[in-house]
Formats: sequence, structure tokens, C-alpha cells
Amino acid sequence: MAEANNFRDHLPSISDTGNKRKWIYPQIIKGKLFRYRDKFSYALLILLFSGPFIKLNGEQLILLNVIERKFVFFGVIFWPQDFYLFVLAILTFMVFIVMFTAIFGRVWCGWACPQTIFMEMVFRKVENLIEGDYIQQQKLDASPLSAEKVLKKTAKHTIFLLISFLISNIFLAYIIGSDELIKIMTEPVGNHVTGFVSIWIFTLVFYIVFSYIRELVCTVICPYGRLQGVLLDNQSIIVAYDYERGEPRGKVQKNTSQEHLGDCIDCKLCVHVCPTGIDIRNGTQLECVNCTACIDACDMVMEKIHRPSRLIGFMSEDQIKTKSAFKLSRKVYAYSVVLLILVTVLSFLLISRTNIETTILRAGGTLYQQRENGTVSNLYNAEFVNKTSGDIEFEMKSDDPETRIEYIHKENLIKKGGIIKLTFFVIRPLKSIKKYKSEIEIQVYSKGKLIEEINTNFIAPPNL
Ligand code: SF4
Ligand code: SF4
Repeated sequence: MAEANNFRDHLPSISDTGNKRKWIYPQIIKGKLFRYRDKFSYALLILLFSGPFIKLNGEQLILLNVIERKFVFFGVIFWPQDFYLFVLAILTFMVFIVMFTAIFGRVWCGWACPQTIFMEMVFRKVENLIEGDYIQQQKLDASPLSAEKVLKKTAKHTIFLLISFLISNIFLAYIIGSDELIKIMTEPVGNHVTGFVSIWIFTLVFYIVFSYIRELVCTVICPYGRLQGVLLDNQSIIVAYDYERGEPRGKVQKNTSQEHLGDCIDCKLCVHVCPTGIDIRNGTQLECVNCTACIDACDMVMEKIHRPSRLIGFMSEDQIKTKSAFKLSRKVYAYSVVLLILVTVLSFLLISRTNIETTILRAGGTLYQQRENGTVSNLYNAEFVNKTSGDIEFEMKSDDPETRIEYIHKENLIKKGGIIKLTFFVIRPLKSIKKYKSEIEIQVYSKGKLIEEINTNFIAPPNL
């Protein structure tokens, strides 16, 4: 009993003394949920691997180039000038995750997180194929060194390394872009030493993660997992054991009355299939990644003993305790309001985002220049940033007939993703100026279409 109660004091994959790793050998059970998860995982893997090679508006579908500070989402480029949008998008995403977790628990971890998908649906399957099922794997690890052991371990780790190499390449394609990655792969190594070294560093990291660290990523390292305690409440739907129905647990024994027992026959199959090594019957635990393997396992047992399924299932603590229908908590309504506000603001900012970002400032240290023809001019510096994936022709004008622009050096093309700087005079007739400092508007046109309107100051001796 003492052992049953001390499950919260230590991780299942660490020895009781805390100085040794306990290797977890989960049994794979191909139940109904596993088959759904299998298909879903392959769909996500196809998306993940094809993502860097799909182009939209001439840009990669998703690019997170932190080196050049260029981010692309669905063909739309975001530059450092759009940092406020990036921050707002991250904030919106975080609120969404918090709300999603409060409703559905950690289902992301078990069903969509790349770590779980690669671990359970790729690496674990390769391991089972080469070393056999969880019992054969334990036997192999405990056996003395033999030709068979060396052969199986070498084959497994070679394939692990190859898959890690593949993941590393895809990972890099999301950062530097698939075009750059193809160059690294096809051009001489000497031209891309940094890229080549990066691929191998990432390969090694992925190999170590999937060969050795494994479930510790979810149970110890991942910050999202650590947050479960504050994000979940009694109304969150999680993978849970219906203790009202299952307890008191007890093994099925022939010729003995079972009437005083609950539905759990204490077969421990739900524990054997758990990739993080926990016993879900102990209640919600931080180590549970909601992979649903224990649901499949227990459903199979229930079918065999002719009892209703879902002794372990997706349910909330309140549903188990009160047998009531699922209802959303007040916390979720509050999150929804915040999320709605954030999505509205973000959508407005995205819709009103211009293709060119223009900054016009009066040249520092200058005042006004009075000209002989009765006009006055101010000197300005302008910077234009092209935020699109195509070149943009543009022209600066003022819609005010009294205001004229005179360039010191004229340019009217900004290359894709490029920045140009211009210096120019704004000239106005002195007789039309009534104030020392007045506001003027400068319009930026592209192919006759107004794309931006900039307000700036103009100073002149007032003509009173
Ligand atoms: S699989 Fe079901 S019946 Fe078996 S121990 Fe787990 S909860 Fe009990
Ligand atoms: S307890 Fe069940 S859902 Fe949670 S990690 Fe283990 S097998 Fe997966």
C-alpha cells in the first residue's frame, strides 16, 4: 500500500534512489484509438515533411528563419518590422493553448506533438520490428553480449541515426528554407560548412532524444507538461480511470463471488502499455501525455470480461464523481472572451497591414530653406521596406496641389524583401503657410493605387 501511495514522490523512469534510469518497455496494443492515432500521425508526418517544399506566393508555406529574422506563414512574409504582430500572434496562440488544455487536457501531447509522434509511431515501431515486442526487448537487454544482440542493436541504432538525419534536414528546412537546404545537399561541403555542421549537430540531438532521453522529454523537460497542474481543473476532459466504477479492484477468481468488487480486475494491462510508465488508476498525473493507449488496453479487457467499455476513458473528474454530463468551467468562458478580443485585434492588424512600410522623417539638424521663387522647402529622409515576396514599383506624391516633392536621388523600385532609403525636399509656396509647424500628408502609390499615406511635419516662417 505504501508503494501505491508514493507514486507522486518519484518518476516511473527513475529508480527509487533517484540515481538510475529505469527503462520503460511499453507494450503496443493496436486498439481502435491506436488505429485512429496511427492514421492521424501519418497525415501529420506527411504535412511536416512536405511543408518546406510547398510554395505559396513564391514563398515556403512555413518558414521560421530566426537567423535572417524572416518568418513566413502561408505565403505571407513577416519581417522584424512586424514584430508587434508576431508578439500578438504568440500571445493569441498561448491563450488558445491554455483554453484548449483547460477543456481537453493534454491531448495535444499524445496525438499531435512531434516528440510523441516520432517516438511512438516511428522510433518505437522500428524498435519493435528489430528487437521484438516489449518482453523480447527486456530479454535482449538483460542478455549477455552475443552476435545476435550486437547485430540487432547495430541495426536499430543505424536506422535511428538515419531517421534522425532525415528529421534534422526537415527541421533545418523550416529554419533556413528548403532552397538553401538543397544547396547544402548538392553543392560542395566547403561552400556550406556551417549548414553541414548544423545538420549533424541536430542529427545527434534528435538521435539522443529518441534513443535515450525518450519519455523524459514529456515528463521532465517540456514546460507545457509542467503547467498541467495550473491549467487543468475538475471539469477538464482528460484520460481518467473511473474509480467509482472500477474500485474496489480485484482479480477474477473462479468459484468466488465477485459481487463486492468493481470492474477493474487489476490485470495491469493499462500500466504495461503506458509509454511513461504510470498507473492511471492513481489519478491525474503530470506524466500522463493523454496518448490513450490505456483506454484501448482497458477496453479490450472489458470486452473479454463482458463489462461495458471505457472504465478508462476521456472524462472529467466531475463526470466521474457526480455522473453528470460534461460542462464547461467558468475559467473556459473567461479564456474565450480574452481569445475573442485577441483574435479580433490580430485580424484587424493583419487585414490593415500594408505591403510597404514607409517611414518619413525630417532630416536631423535641418530647419527650413527659403528659396528665391517665394517657396520654402524642408529636407526629409525616407525608408521603404518591401514586405512582400515580389518587387514593388512605387511613387511618392502629395495630393495637395500646393505641395511638391523634389528628389535628391530618385528610386522607384524596391526589390522583394528589400529596403531603400531616399532623401528629398518637400516644397511649398510661402504664401500658403500660416503656422511655423504644420502637418502634411505624403501618399505612396504603386501602379496608380494608393498603398500608404504618411503624415509628417513641415516647418516654415509663418506668413502672417
Ligand atoms: S486495464 Fe482496466 S481492468 Fe486492467 S488494471 Fe487497468 S483499469 Fe484495471
Ligand atoms: S496513462 Fe494512459 S494516456 Fe496517460 S500516458 Fe499512460 S497510457 Fe497514455
